[in-house]
Amino acid sequence: MKDIEGKTFDVIVIGSGPAGFTAALYAARADLNPLVFEGPEPGGQLMQTTDVDNYPGYPEGVMGPKMMEDFREQAKRFGADCRYGFVDNIEFGERPYKLTVDEETTVFAKSIIISTGASAKWLGLESEQKLRGKGVSACATCDGAFFRNEHVIIVGGGDTAMEEATFLTKFASKVSVIHRREELRASKAMQNRAFNNEKIEFIWNSELTEVLGDKVVEGVKIQNTNTGEESVLEDVTGVFIAIGHKPNTDLFKDVLTMDDVGYIQTKGQSTETDLPGIFASGDAMDPIYRQAVTAAGTGCRAALDAERFLSGSEESKESIAESHWK
Ligand code: NAP
Repeated sequence: MKDIEGKTFDVIVIGSGPAGFTAALYAARADLNPLVFEGPEPGGQLMQTTDVDNYPGYPEGVMGPKMMEDFREQAKRFGADCRYGFVDNIEFGERPYKLTVDEETTVFAKSIIISTGASAKWLGLESEQKLRGKGVSACATCDGAFFRNEHVIIVGGGDTAMEEATFLTKFASKVSVIHRREELRASKAMQNRAFNNEKIEFIWNSELTEVLGDKVVEGVKIQNTNTGEESVLEDVTGVFIAIGHKPNTDLFKDVLTMDDVGYIQTKGQSTETDLPGIFASGDAMDPIYRQAVTAAGTGCRAALDAERFLSGSEESKESIAESHWK
């Protein structure tokens, strides 16, 4: 990274999922020579996925890692400088913002696009990690269709778990919800929809303790949280974990406005944050949709917002969001 030490860039993109690479593509095509720091998981959550069948433009579907490679190559084709690197500090006090990367390189940014994404929370079981992508998933929308006429489980009791359980009944013959208490956290409407679906059964006061199988899922072991009794569901072939997501926004804590979970709040329909020239895109700011295609859309918007910010006068820089959406 010696070649960039001390240099100032028009746009620095932090993160390399669909939002980050789309932001980089648009910024590069606007001659803003973006520098992308790909972060600890280059390519983001899609690197954990197998077939992606719901991204437009791939009629035969595409493997998640291949799609992210395509995204990266397209951004690079127009001059985006994509590098492995983790931004560990930003000095927010003055512009251009000073960023420290991998604790050793210092660069400056006139504008920053945050595309740090979110990470699904996992239970932390060894067997769960071993079979991730081989029957264990944290995304029913992505992987549900692989379980036609099979018995799957979903762990969690929130809105995501209820929504995904209901979605999974389109494919699976039976969906068992494993919840650690006997009361759901999900909204009443979501609960009722799940309760009224005859393909969904609830296994209360229970925790998943082991995913069985070597190369694919061949059952699960669960334990009753009240009695400690263990049981095995032998015919389960799919395990969906829906215990929440965590946006990767620790770097911006106490600086940018976030909701309780840590999703960055943007102004109006723009991608503008509290600080001039800092824009947020993708799962770092989207608690609702969280799809590759929606993340790419916000990455595009962030780059357009950054371009507008950079070309405006110093006064107009204070609030492009307001002028934008007046
Ligand atoms: P959530 O509301 O935080 O629920 C997480 C669920 O997972 C809870 O039931 C929790 O159990 C359980 N859980 C957490 N850690 C666990 C662990 N280690 N082991 C076992 N179970 C565990 O997360 P979410 O469902 O992803 O929802 C996130 C936000 O998005 C919410 O505000 C939700 O309303 C919103 N959302 C809205 C919609 C919609 O309106 N269409 C759809 C999806 C999500 P406890 O209940 O015991 O804590």
